Amino acid sequence: MQADLIIVGAGMVGSALALALKDSGLNILLLDSGTLTLKPFDPQSAFEPRVSALSMASQRILERLGAWDGILARRSSPYAEMQVWDGSGTGNIHFAASSVHAELLGHIVENRVIQDALLEALLASRVQLLPGASLEALQRTASGWQLRLADGRELHTPLLVAADGANSAVRRLAGCATREWDYLHHAIVTSVRCAQPHQRTAWQRFTDDGPLAFLPLARDGDQHWCSIVWSCVPQQAEHLMALDAAGFADELGKAFEQRLGAVLEVDPRLCIPLRQRHAKRYVEAGLALIGDAAHTIHPLAGQGVNLGFLDAGVLAEVLLHAQQRGERLAAERVLSRFERRRMPHNLAMMAAMESFERLFQATPPPLRWLRNAGLSLVNGLPEAKALFVRQALGLSGDLPALARV
Ligand SMILES: Cc1cc2nc3c(=O)[nH]c(=O)nc-3n(C[C@H](O)[C@H](O)[C@H](O)COP(=O)(O)OP(=O)(O)OC[C@H]3O[C@@H](n4cnc5c(N)ncnc54)[C@H](O)[C@@H]3O)c2cc1C
Repeated sequence: MQADLIIVGAGMVGSALALALKDSGLNILLLDSGTLTLKPFDPQSAFEPRVSALSMASQRILERLGAWDGILARRSSPYAEMQVWDGSGTGNIHFAASSVHAELLGHIVENRVIQDALLEALLASRVQLLPGASLEALQRTASGWQLRLADGRELHTPLLVAADGANSAVRRLAGCATREWDYLHHAIVTSVRCAQPHQRTAWQRFTDDGPLAFLPLARDGDQHWCSIVWSCVPQQAEHLMALDAAGFADELGKAFEQRLGAVLEVDPRLCIPLRQRHAKRYVEAGLALIGDAAHTIHPLAGQGVNLGFLDAGVLAEVLLHAQQRGERLAAERVLSRFERRRMPHNLAMMAAMESFERLFQATPPPLRWLRNAGLSLVNGLPEAKALFVRQALGLSGDLPALARV
């Protein structure tokens, strides 16, 4: 089988890239080891533990790709405010969309909802989908790449895009170097029902062990459910995972200072080891890495997939421009334009998250004082806060046309 472009990984980011290029006239093959089938969505179903905080920039991209209506038709939770505070001090900061005359800061959406809405749009397009296709071997040829799947099928393409997630097989098989480090943290994720409504606010408490987030969920107008992301050291994660639901609810409520009252119900928990990884290069001739295949970032800012959607938007834009100019799309010179636009932005976001994480892990009193004073100081500076809010909306920097107003 031969295609002009093969995208490995039909996750959120790979699917977005395929949709952004669907009218390019390129013969695109999007393959995934999963089934790529659309199941009917039950609005009463339990929440999926993995959710994403989608920025306004991601919303715009998804609107233009024809997937946003599919998200709204399923389930999403808009939020307009954010409360962040230091659990071992007095520092706190409050962000509101209204400070930059915006209605919302973003939406919390279950990953499977985003995925299904993208798949729905893909099924209505001319993009060829190849489900049950697990990449096993990769070889450079005179005209590009030969891919071998686990079932023995062979595929050929001049241009390959890795969108196969944090443990990317493409990145490994192509021998792309990465820088990586453990956060020595695990994240426990689940959904919980609280005694008090979340008020369409994203809540984040920094504890001595790591950040704890309560992200607002909505089901039939009920505002009592939140998705939680609790980062903690492996030993504590092990202890928390071993507790029964009532014991976990109790500890969670205490760690969250009962800001939304008692935790009344807890869904099944997932524990995910956190690792930051960044590919040293995003491109080489005939190859580009996007989304988590190129970078994984601490979930504390909820930016992972937002960065991935921007990667997809910029790569599509670079390829469409090159096509208009009659350039060879697989040329490293062309693909480097994508790397030049995205790498500085992704690195800056990762560095910011890293310093934030370190600052809140710090125990020496001067640093504690600094972060408490810093949070409260920023809280009193409307211009500085507006800057943060614009950053959170994802509307600053070098945006692809898909994300612009
Ligand atoms: C605890 C936690 C909380 C998070 N919260 C947020 C948040 O609030 N906001 C946010 O923006 N981000 C968040 N993230 C990050 C976000 O989940 C990721 O950035 C996002 O899922 C990356 O999407 P992707 O499409 O690049 O990769 P993935 O979602 O991993 O998709 C990869 C796809 O490739 C396929 N695949 C893998 N290997 C192969 C192979 N060998 N052959 C064929 N197919 C293959 C897989 O089946 C999958 O469909 C969070 C992450 C964690 C761990």
